[in-house]
Amino acid sequence: EYERYRERTPNSKTMADELREIVPAGVCSTFRAYDPYPFHAERAEGTTIHDVDGNEYLDFALNNGTQLVGHTHPRLTDVATDQIERGTLYTRPSELLEFAATPLIDRWEAIEQVRFTNSGTEAVMHATRLARAYTGREKIVRMEGAYHGAHDPALVSKMPPLEQAGPAGDPRPVRESQGIPSSVPDDVLLAQYNDAESVEGLLRERGSEIAAILVEPACLNLGLVEPEDGFLQRLRELADEYNVVLIFDEVKTGVKLAPGGGAEYYGVQPDLVALAKAIGGGYPVGAFGGRREIMELIADDLNDGVATGAAHYGTYNGNPLSLRAVGVTLREILTDEAYDHVADLNARLATGYREVIEDSGLEAQVKAVGSQGMVHFTEEPIRTFRDWTHVDEEFHEAYWIGMVNRDVLPHPHDASQQWTVSVRHTAEDVDAHVDAFADLATHLSD
Ligand code: PMP
Repeated sequence: EYERYRERTPNSKTMADELREIVPAGVCSTFRAYDPYPFHAERAEGTTIHDVDGNEYLDFALNNGTQLVGHTHPRLTDVATDQIERGTLYTRPSELLEFAATPLIDRWEAIEQVRFTNSGTEAVMHATRLARAYTGREKIVRMEGAYHGAHDPALVSKMPPLEQAGPAGDPRPVRESQGIPSSVPDDVLLAQYNDAESVEGLLRERGSEIAAILVEPACLNLGLVEPEDGFLQRLRELADEYNVVLIFDEVKTGVKLAPGGGAEYYGVQPDLVALAKAIGGGYPVGAFGGRREIMELIADDLNDGVATGAAHYGTYNGNPLSLRAVGVTLREILTDEAYDHVADLNARLATGYREVIEDSGLEAQVKAVGSQGMVHFTEEPIRTFRDWTHVDEEFHEAYWIGMVNRDVLPHPHDASQQWTVSVRHTAEDVDAHVDAFADLATHLSD
């Protein structure tokens, strides 16, 4: 399949070779580089992305799941064009702040106040700072193998190599990148997703040092791992018991599992929520919000030289272009009907996958929740990061590149990712996706 990929993408190859000379790895996020080279985008519209060799891919990757609204939604293009003429940056509040904040407050019971950022990384970073400010403690409990952004502590044990990670019951923190100070892991305590006892153990031992439990309601860096019954409820109880802030990183799950994200879907409200991606319909934005009592710490005066509150700065925070996109996406595009449409098509896609798997005799797990889904070629369901390490990544790679060669981008590159069904997809798109998989499956099962 690599050979076929190369034959189909000669212009991408030339551009990749040239770009690598001036841009490290030829990409602007390390995640985007893969073998033999990424295809280079020419343009995207609706549910299609075009490459520089004239290939058209039916897009279920949708920019790491950001575009639940699809590419170039006409309503968003209209308001963005209008907003460009009205100014893309004011660095002053405007009525757009209320326009964008209100739907988030309406969707999350936990969100009483909200601040906007430019990315999910910033949203998580500020939510954790705020939790530390609120509790006066420094350590953050996080789940091994989860992704929470690109800042230093978030890259501790994001996806550690098992040789370095120690036993599951006593995981050792691993820094993913050179350049992260050796002191950073001191403030990161590791638990296992779907193992509330691992969290409880840390709280019992070191509760008075712990500021927050940081968790994705469904783990979307392990394909699609859902919380087992009672897991999130137990985290809520533990956070209350030990006076620890419960932070849901809903950068991926937010507005995608349900209108009010994983909190609504699983019926557990955190204290703080970090958001980004789909809330902006493809425009760069993030947000963090939560209980008034915690959020109000940000408002405290920092200008007298003594920090009594928590700092949150940023030139592009709450820029009018992104705020307009958030407001229109949440108020006008992601309606109840849109959610019904996406859920129906997602179920159709998952059923299609299951049928192909049954017919081909492949060993695989298919999951679908809200707009998200995935296939993993494993015998056993995946519950934790340690389970995920049994995924045959080479086989998954053959699946991914085989689908791309069949003009379907099934999910962002990498077995840790998942598909997104958007409001723009149709039943025909879903059937074409399943047909491509059926064709590929006959080769994969050989
Ligand atoms: N948290 C989670 C759960 C994410 O999936 C991501 C991005 N994939 C981030 C945080 C970081 O968001 P961003 O890329 O916008 O900085």
